[in-house]
Amino acid sequence: MVNIKTKEEIDILREAGKVHAFILQTLQEAVQPGVSAMELDTLARAMLEEYGMRPAFYNYTPEGVSYPYPAALCVSVNDEVVHGIPLEDIILEEGDIVSLDLGVEHKNLITDSAITVPVGFVSEKVEALLKATKKALEKGIEAAQPGNTVGDIGHAIESFVKPHGYGIVKILAGHGVGYSVHEDPYIPNYGKPGTGEKLVPGMVIAIEPMLTLGGDEVAVTEDEYTYVTYDGSLSAHFEHTVAITEQGPVILTK
Ligand code: MG
Ligand code: MG
Repeated sequence: MVNIKTKEEIDILREAGKVHAFILQTLQEAVQPGVSAMELDTLARAMLEEYGMRPAFYNYTPEGVSYPYPAALCVSVNDEVVHGIPLEDIILEEGDIVSLDLGVEHKNLITDSAITVPVGFVSEKVEALLKATKKALEKGIEAAQPGNTVGDIGHAIESFVKPHGYGIVKILAGHGVGYSVHEDPYIPNYGKPGTGEKLVPGMVIAIEPMLTLGGDEVAVTEDEYTYVTYDGSLSAHFEHTVAITEQGPVILTK
């Protein structure tokens, strides 16, 4: 069932989304060689506390996992696609790329947003992957018009990505968000125009393309959370929480 949010709820999500964006920007600035994944998580938690908001992922147990998520932030390095646990011994190195994915809870409402950033200098090929993934997110958001469908979003992302030759992670997807971390509808990063759930004003969704320099296949590691590319290729991920309004899509996490 798809939840429809009120205007007041969307205003709260927008208020939280501004802080959310500021935290991600601050984390991005903190990323440099020698910084540990845990330090980034600690910074995210401290900032959330400062704004009186809660880490939405902390203690959340996704379907199919046997224990709750132990951190605020997901820190996924290089071939890790998403849901990397920010351990102390994960130290960022020059040339890495790192996806930072945060969930923010404010007044019982949740926003979800992620960025992927380079650690120091990365190759042109890797820069291009980051840029394309960000652009793919923009394409998905542009397609999130009222009256369109979930398939239109997926199609917009897929048809932008295909000519570049990047892999698109297919078994992970965007989703509704707001009352909980994951809600209906399920929003794949590929699809056929006009298919799937219709987008209506009041829907709040997380759009999150995950692209790779290799194939589409991913695997989950022993910790049950971390997804890695099956072929070991680098992966990038960008995500925004978006409200569907009469006037079109509104990015809440900026
Ligand atoms: Mg996320
Ligand atoms: Mg998400």
